Amino acid sequence: MRPQIKFCGMRSKKDVVNACSAGADYLGFIFAPSKRRVRPEDVCEWTAELPQNNRALLTGVFVDEEETTIIQTAKTAGLDIIQCHGNETSADVHALKTALPGVQVFKTIHHESGALLRMKEFENAADGFLVDTKTEHSMGGTGTAFDWDAVPEYSEEAKRQGVPIFIAGGITAANADELLNYHPWGLDISSGIETGDEKDYRKMVTIMKKTANVYAFPDELGRYGDFGGKYVPETLMYALTQLEEAYHTITAEESFKAELQQELKRYAGRPTEITYAGSLTEAYGGAQIYLKREDLLHTGAHKINNALAQGLLAKKMGKTEIIAETGAGQHGVATATMAARFGLSCKVFMGAEDMKRQELNVFRMRLLGAEVLEVQSGGKTLKDATNEAIRHWVANVDTTFYLIGSVVGPHPYPMIVRNFQRVIGDESIRQMEEICGKQPAEAVACVGGGSNAMGMFYPYINSGVRLTGIEAAGKGMDTPDHAATLSKGRKGVLHGALSYLIQDDHGNVFEPYSISAGLDYPGIGPEHAHLHDSGIVNYEAVTDDEAMDALEDLCRLEGILPAIETAHALAYVKRAAKSYSEDDALLVCLSGRGDKDVHTIQQVLGGADK
Ligand SMILES: *Cc1c(COP(=O)(O)O)cnc(C)c1O
Repeated sequence: MRPQIKFCGMRSKKDVVNACSAGADYLGFIFAPSKRRVRPEDVCEWTAELPQNNRALLTGVFVDEEETTIIQTAKTAGLDIIQCHGNETSADVHALKTALPGVQVFKTIHHESGALLRMKEFENAADGFLVDTKTEHSMGGTGTAFDWDAVPEYSEEAKRQGVPIFIAGGITAANADELLNYHPWGLDISSGIETGDEKDYRKMVTIMKKTANVYAFPDELGRYGDFGGKYVPETLMYALTQLEEAYHTITAEESFKAELQQELKRYAGRPTEITYAGSLTEAYGGAQIYLKREDLLHTGAHKINNALAQGLLAKKMGKTEIIAETGAGQHGVATATMAARFGLSCKVFMGAEDMKRQELNVFRMRLLGAEVLEVQSGGKTLKDATNEAIRHWVANVDTTFYLIGSVVGPHPYPMIVRNFQRVIGDESIRQMEEICGKQPAEAVACVGGGSNAMGMFYPYINSGVRLTGIEAAGKGMDTPDHAATLSKGRKGVLHGALSYLIQDDHGNVFEPYSISAGLDYPGIGPEHAHLHDSGIVNYEAVTDDEAMDALEDLCRLEGILPAIETAHALAYVKRAAKSYSEDDALLVCLSGRGDKDVHTIQQVLGGADK
């Protein structure tokens, strides 16, 4: 089990919000004389907006305080835990517990010989302990703040008593991972997450990542490791900041959550089912194959999840015009659909080349009342349509909401889109438990910009489930005709974010190729770039031919016509299923249905009977 993490000495709402978004399990507030001392009313205000059912536990630290003061403070601040940090006796601890039912009482013990015996004095009184390992002696410049050899004894004691025992004193980002070798039950960190006198979000995230294997991105600059950020003209900086603030405020409101939930359920058709593909499993051999059916959603793909959510956000922000870019036309259709539903005006930018390839989707968008603007610049595909949409946004920033369709673009878009798509993974975790009583050995999704994959993967990160994203290898990885951004790309900036890009030796971004219009974007979401480089997610590439082959399999064996994008994920499953046993499950994000692709499929596969 990972150690529990307590960040102590919170002194502002910003500290609280940062500590929670870094993933802290406990927050500590000092109510004793200290430069970090806070007032109970302030704590109440700072923590008021944290979700009630799933938040860090609020701990108040007191030193030999009057019982009545402690009780009053606990009530005002809404504390979950009282930490007696002075010379309190077990009778004092007992009295507090009696006076405050529902509130736990912890006792601080100083690490010295006999500390375990001292702990025994409190065995039936305290609900947990904090061992302060800082000693005068060890602070004498040795660089080691405490005696780690004793930590396993405390962890044993925690197990024996079945109570928390936190280790505190001199823990920093630099020494935390070494401390992990001693298997502490929990860590309490205060000055180790400060720079100067201020709490430092980056240090919190570093500690969480090192000690608790917690994945906490983006940071406050919108970066995922080396990737992401906001590389935009000054005129857009304000719009992005405004969007980020509105996103945090509005999506936290109960009314927003309820309305979105209703739209996803009653309009789009969530939750989507998970289907066991029995014949496909038999044909491929090995793992049981399960399909997360995003193809069953209104408009035929996962994109509607994001379009409805951003549309609702736009409406609540008071924007009247929606603009979007589209490649395959699927995001354009999803956006036009949402705009019709919410009564917003809608402009969709689309490359002239894509308009030819996806004629029916162009008609569909116009039928839905959207204006489709033909983009003639560059290669006349998605990249150029995105440039044009950004240009329009710069000129109309006050009234216009730019609805980005994947986990790409400048911060906060990759984060917003991922959070609006994570419903795919959240539902999957619940449904796999219901259907199979366990989680899959591997989850697979195709990657264009990467939104269906991020939606599926995000809730599974660090869960032990192998995660694999599938890129388009087009005509083959040894040809220039592919869209395998991660496998073949180099770092660069496109559309406001740093990520991997398909570019030539001079750094010019070139036209990617894939049989599926939804995968031929030259970039990839920055979070995927980070997940790739950090090895958290695996990425593989699949050719046109392999994808079309898997597409036919799914049609014939399961009666499901998938989108060609989706067929890339299925082609990987065809390769990988055999390497698993029959007890293992593979979960595939069936991102969309293939009705839009029938024309292309007919051209490639012909009408011939096989
Ligand atoms: C657009 C699309 C994709 C690719 O987009 P991501 O952002 O990578 O998910 C994949 N599948 C379908 C069906 C699509 O419409």
